[in-house]
Amino acid sequence: MASINQNFLKLSAGYLFPEIARRVNAYASAHPDRAANIIRCGIGDVTEPLPAVAVAALHEGANDLADRKRFRGYGPPTGHEFVREAIAQSEFRDRGMQIANDEIFLSDGSKPDASNFLRILGNENRVAVPDPVYPVYVDTNVMAGRTGACDASDRYTGLIYMDGTPSNGFVPKPPSERADVVYLCFPNNPTGATISRGELQAWVDWAQANDALLLFDAAYEAFIRDESIPRSIFEIPGARSCAVEFRSFSKNGGFTGLRCGYTVVPKEVTGSCPDGKRIPLHGLWMRHWGTCSNGVSWPVQRAAAALCTPEGRRQMRELTDFYLENARILRASVEELGLQCWGGVHAPYVWLKCPDGLGSWQAFDQLLHASQLVVTPGAGFGRCGEGFIRVSAFNSQDNVIEAGKRLRSLVAAAV
Ligand SMILES: *Cc1c(COP(=O)(O)O)cnc(C)c1O
Repeated sequence: MASINQNFLKLSAGYLFPEIARRVNAYASAHPDRAANIIRCGIGDVTEPLPAVAVAALHEGANDLADRKRFRGYGPPTGHEFVREAIAQSEFRDRGMQIANDEIFLSDGSKPDASNFLRILGNENRVAVPDPVYPVYVDTNVMAGRTGACDASDRYTGLIYMDGTPSNGFVPKPPSERADVVYLCFPNNPTGATISRGELQAWVDWAQANDALLLFDAAYEAFIRDESIPRSIFEIPGARSCAVEFRSFSKNGGFTGLRCGYTVVPKEVTGSCPDGKRIPLHGLWMRHWGTCSNGVSWPVQRAAAALCTPEGRRQMRELTDFYLENARILRASVEELGLQCWGGVHAPYVWLKCPDGLGSWQAFDQLLHASQLVVTPGAGFGRCGEGFIRVSAFNSQDNVIEAGKRLRSLVAAAV
């Protein structure tokens, strides 16, 4: 008899997005007349078509595969050299960061990378996560067996939770207890918070002093419009010895359906063996790729490289400018209602405090039922998200303007 990985049984029942979909579908089938009126600002998925350079490269890539002379089969598991070179040069070296081509590991996205990276880390690591948090960091650790059960407050024993609150601007400080692996994500999903250079330096200093590994998720770096805010942890002195960075073309290039991302693993980052010896994570991660994957498809790699050209960068900028304008509109609507909010600048999410006494899911239901607006309940991102909601700027401008108006029903509900 095939037994199952029992860690899956520990996962708390409602993964956030299926539960949102369930409630939206139930509403739509109960109110078919209003179903067409629903505006979805819940899931963080992009809405605009791919940049033209990426589309052209995809066509070219398909033509390559149709031609005996240009045909490509298996490539290097971590990506073709010209793609890794284009990324390392345009995203890092041109900005003064010393990242080698072979420190870029191309993948089908950051979600799988964040999940797979756990394979090369020991199960005895003490893992710290922010709260609120991108649920993937927590659930993948649960599946890997790095936690105990989920308690009544929706927290897993064995994980260290770092509270994000209005008083720290949703930028947690290093924990006081020992942690070996720490997740950071800036600009943040769900709160839209950014981290200052000084704050990130403090994290790197702490990681070095405490021999900890920082897993830095920079999926939203392309939304930063202020040079003083770090776009990569490798802008911070010392990070090369204690940090790994997850990057994705999902949000800057609209690749959520196409699938491409990468992990940056500097050769200086090491982990310890039982005998105290240090081993570079770079080699282990390389081994993981060689054994478990044959990499990213040829047309997609061509499309990713196209985004790294000057014209590709211009088109990504145009795309992120579009979503940032949406975020600005949403934030202005929230402020007009007199509600406290975070994000919406340098990030495609607005995070807002529900009016007094309204819980996250109550606010969610209120917005869905009174105005057919779908948002994300903050409680789905952790205990500290209770009493907040996330509104995504990934939508058409007309929908965002309309969503801004519909948020009014939140205030109406409170009075
Ligand atoms: C969207 C997102 C990603 C990107 O995931 P992909 O698998 O590359 O699409 C990574 N991290 C966070 C926090 C995200 O919100």
